[in-house]
Amino acid sequence: MYCSELGEQWHAARVEPALGHLDSASAGRSSSGVIATLHQHLIREAETGSYVASDERAADLHEGRRALGSLIGHRPEEISFRDSARAALRGLLNGMKLPISPTVWVAKNEFGPNLDEFERRDYAVRTMPEADVYGHVDVDSLENMLQFEQPDFIHVCHIGSASGVVQPVAQIVEVAHAAGVPVVVDMAQAVGHVPTVTGADVVYGTSRKWLTGPRGVGFLAVRDDSRVEVAIESSESFIAGQLALSTAVAEFLAMGQQHAYRELAAVGRMTRERLHGIGSWEVMEPIDEPSALVTLAPPPGWRPADVLAARDRLLELGLLVTAADSWRAPLAGEQSLLRVSPHLDVRREQLDQLATAIRTMGY
Ligand SMILES: *Cc1c(COP(=O)(O)O)cnc(C)c1O
Repeated sequence: MYCSELGEQWHAARVEPALGHLDSASAGRSSSGVIATLHQHLIREAETGSYVASDERAADLHEGRRALGSLIGHRPEEISFRDSARAALRGLLNGMKLPISPTVWVAKNEFGPNLDEFERRDYAVRTMPEADVYGHVDVDSLENMLQFEQPDFIHVCHIGSASGVVQPVAQIVEVAHAAGVPVVVDMAQAVGHVPTVTGADVVYGTSRKWLTGPRGVGFLAVRDDSRVEVAIESSESFIAGQLALSTAVAEFLAMGQQHAYRELAAVGRMTRERLHGIGSWEVMEPIDEPSALVTLAPPPGWRPADVLAARDRLLELGLLVTAADSWRAPLAGEQSLLRVSPHLDVRREQLDQLATAIRTMGY
């Protein structure tokens, strides 16, 4: 029924879904263990008061940071929990010591709201060279460019919000560091999805997507030997959520992270193979891109409102996907896309159902 034993286990650890949930890129389905952690801590806060309850769990929170650190290549002391990825980026940009009108280089898949944060602060934004039509960064050209000119930092979405393209972050970090340029990585769509130990100076992300932790928790990690100077302020925090994220990370590690990444890549490949060539829709990633985030461009002439209507129609049929408007990745074009992001428990019948529904909407 499921495509792998891991998928079956992952499914069994969760309540039965009320629909075909193919939308992990918005928010993955949390496990019953994650929900229990959240619930138990809220009860404990009511029993002892929130501060005593949080002191009791200090060691567990440290262990949570350690486990998360093993996914992203950071030490626990370098990690702080935030409310969201957006909050992490804001905290970072507010604390970073930069010259007046700094320059940042980004990739074509840059997340629109991140560009807004740069614009609001008057940063000069430039796009890194692309190796192909999919928008992978061309690391060789980047290396050449960096010999002539260095931005104050490079910011890259490991995976963006409107494309399953996986950027070659470790190679970007290598050439950037050789030129003395720090790298900041948005891992909101990457953590718990693809390998994320990259050597980057700063990384940040969110709990609720591929890691399937709770909403309302994000993280920011700044290497001690980072090339950026940052002063990070602490903030009031959602301890139950942080503990629940820690449970989600522990469950992810227990699956075997490399095993999970391989299976998610296989899920993406199977999804793209199934949806490729349906009606006049077009799969926008290479078939074997190693991610489970899949985007489909609609037939020619479709407007954003038509894509939104298609998403609503799919929901009526019991399939949850995203209508991804162009604000998510404004440098990649005007196109609205359907974003399909199944997790490990996707079933072939769900993809068949999706393919059939899309085919009939194709004209
Ligand atoms: C979802 C997302 C974010 C924002 O995450 P929040 O936790 O909602 O702030 C940032 N970048 C990318 C690429 C995303 O997909």
